[in-house]
Amino acid sequence: MSPSELNKYRLILGKKHEELLAAAPARTPASEPGSKSGDWIDQSSQESDLHVHLRLMQTDSKLQRAIEEAIHRIDAGTYGICMDCEDEIPATRLEAVPWTRLCVDCKEKKDK
Ligand SMILES: [Zn+2]
Repeated sequence: MSPSELNKYRLILGKKHEELLAAAPARTPASEPGSKSGDWIDQSSQESDLHVHLRLMQTDSKLQRAIEEAIHRIDAGTYGICMDCEDEIPATRLEAVPWTRLCVDCKEKKDK
């Protein structure tokens, strides 16, 4: 992959990473689990909201880590190479999912 292409993906990844950080739940204290939002709220619905919230947080931090790893791979010179079959990942896939570690074939094999 050419340096200008690597630079492009680094910019995309950096921007996405910033977006995730900006949207991090830590910036919205009102939705913190510890905050008392009123005893009148039905306890069970409050708990299910919390579970949804936690699941979203997990997804975000997972994505955040995947993006950080991708940026590391750009620095290490292994970006755009499938971790499984070591083939080059097609540009179309990198455009769609810039933080991917696997080519479509290997991803599909893993999903099955
Ligand atoms: Zn592969």
